[in-house]
Amino acid sequence: MNPYLGPRFKTAAITTSLPMAVDKSIDFGLQDFCNKCKKCAREGTPGAISLGDKVMFNGYEMWKPDVESCTRYRVTNPAVSRCGRCLKVCAFNKQGLFEHRIPL
Ligand code: SF4
Repeated sequence: MNPYLGPRFKTAAITTSLPMAVDKSIDFGLQDFCNKCKKCAREGTPGAISLGDKVMFNGYEMWKPDVESCTRYRVTNPAVSRCGRCLKVCAFNKQGLFEHRIPL
């Protein structure tokens, strides 16, 4: 998740020998926001994202998606061949709006 670009942000790597300053990760309050929001869990593919607490998975604390539910929805829904509902409804997906910058 990118604080300015939202969930449709893709990372990429470029290797270089150019000297560059090393920055640090930032905390823009996403974990707290998601813990109260959970819109993607409510309005995304039913049952695919947990409304419960985060779990530990592969060394990461996360709301682990049910990949089988996502896949089942995508391949059995005659109206669409893909989904992305959770990305579309995410509050951070609305670039330029203020509501995701207001502390809850
Ligand atoms: S909709 Fe976006 S901001 Fe809300 S819980 Fe899901 S990922 Fe977090």
